[in-house]
Amino acid sequence: PITDEKGLGFKGHDMLAPFTAGWQSADLHPLIIEKSEGSYVYDIKGKKYLDALAGLWCTALGGNEPRLVAAATQQLNTLPFYHSFWNRTTKPSLDLAKELLETFTATKMAKAFFTNSGSEANDTQVKLVWYYNNALGRPDKKKFIARHKSYHGSTLIAASLSGLPALHQKFDLPVPFVLHTDCPHYWRYHLPGETEEEFSTRLANNLENLILKEGPDTIAAFIAEPVMGAGGVILPPATYFEKVQAIVKKYDILFIADEVICAFGRLGTMYGCDKYNIKPDLVSVAKALSSAYMPIGAVLVSPEVSDVIHSQSSKLGSFSHGFTYSGHPVSCAVAIEALKIYKERNIVDQVNSISPRFQDGIKAFSDSPIIGEIRGTGLILGTEFTDNKSPNDLFPPEWGVAAYFGAQCEKHGMLVRVSGDNIMMSPPFIMTPNEVDELISKYGKALKDTETWVKELKSK
Ligand code: PLP
Repeated sequence: PITDEKGLGFKGHDMLAPFTAGWQSADLHPLIIEKSEGSYVYDIKGKKYLDALAGLWCTALGGNEPRLVAAATQQLNTLPFYHSFWNRTTKPSLDLAKELLETFTATKMAKAFFTNSGSEANDTQVKLVWYYNNALGRPDKKKFIARHKSYHGSTLIAASLSGLPALHQKFDLPVPFVLHTDCPHYWRYHLPGETEEEFSTRLANNLENLILKEGPDTIAAFIAEPVMGAGGVILPPATYFEKVQAIVKKYDILFIADEVICAFGRLGTMYGCDKYNIKPDLVSVAKALSSAYMPIGAVLVSPEVSDVIHSQSSKLGSFSHGFTYSGHPVSCAVAIEALKIYKERNIVDQVNSISPRFQDGIKAFSDSPIIGEIRGTGLILGTEFTDNKSPNDLFPPEWGVAAYFGAQCEKHGMLVRVSGDNIMMSPPFIMTPNEVDELISKYGKALKDTETWVKELKSK
């Protein structure tokens, strides 16, 4: 481990290079991944790692699914590209729209709009919502409410919607039409003696007060991840979505479900909306849509919203939005195959068959003196490191406890995500029970190393 000048504090990859996506620099000594196989990846030195984050919450079918490779190859050999502008399109794009819309059953969705990523899907949401309100003659209904600690992407608008200060500071974000309401993290934010239901009521009241303060006629949409991912795997407390949806509906505010992490089985249901009885107007998906073999995202649009947009488009002009690679035929062909595999293999049942082993196995470490909370459902799980089991007794940030844990995982041959005091895992859906046991064993070893290390730091 690299420590600071006093020998205190761990500086692992995540501390040195907190956000290097895009900026690539060999000076930072990145871990270079070369090959993948099932639930494992290998670095250029041949070291094998259990990929406990499924890439970046996305390679649901693991590292070498031959059917996805064949689907891409076949499409590349037939039609590597044609666009989807001006009423021209390709068969894979049309077929995927049909298949994808059928997978969403929480409410009826009428149209799919393809993007290349989750960020672009969420940017597209904002334009769709504005267009919709303009078509309805209410151009002032423009503001978006998102939540603190949410993550919706990195483009200017998606980063604005996100509730993570690091994405705002020094970028002059969020943009003024984005507001943030409470993060629904019960363990961290509940008042003494407050039940989950009471906490949810308080948050719903706060949301309503924010809407009233701003003026309901100015609020266009509310956006939420069913389970917050990058913010630390935060599950909604009991009755939260029921209460929030009632408020949103009361003021004619659209509900956008950001399913970029949750969709296609991760929570043990096809969508997060199925698990929490969310009836959204709009949905964003990406990541597992193609099991990450090709970049693709999508927005699903309810008939109510799409009818307004299409019936008004002649008056307002066309919905002038789209990307060269919207509905890219190779991405669509791979996504069609991924959805076919999810169906054929009953992927939701598969997730549910291994998730109790995963959740119970990791939650058995909850007594560790350096763990504040372990939380998760299905195949997503976060661990928050705090002292004395208290959400308020944070370890000094310069100790980098979570980063140290992440580095110990790496040492023992496992990759997890580190963020602040949290580490996150979201294994591929194809993990075998033996691989789950290996994951738990590696987590246990990394935890033991980290406990020893924290003890040493405390004694200094
Ligand atoms: N929304 C959520 C919930 C995400 O977790 C992410 C990425 O992690 C995004 C949106 C952004 O997706 P992308 O990185 O594909 O732009």
